[in-house]
Amino acid sequence: MVKQESRPKPETKKGGGAKARKEGQKEDRKLSALYESSGEKVARKNRFCPKCGPGTFLGKHKDRLVCGRCRYVEYQKTI
Ligand SMILES: [Zn+2]
Repeated sequence: MVKQESRPKPETKKGGGAKARKEGQKEDRKLSALYESSGEKVARKNRFCPKCGPGTFLGKHKDRLVCGRCRYVEYQKTI
């Protein structure tokens, strides 16, 4: 009877496999993050601040939009 001892080989695990997976959805996540961080209710038609330019959303209030960056205020007509 021959006894064979099979020793488990030491596996070298490299952390970072999850890194490559999350590519492709970067932009979407950025935007959704912006919407959520604006507090209040999530506005679907958030507009950009004309002063700060695209990328800076106007915070939606009851009857006005306010830029949290430069304090630009745009009043809205309730339709
Ligand atoms: Zn602004």
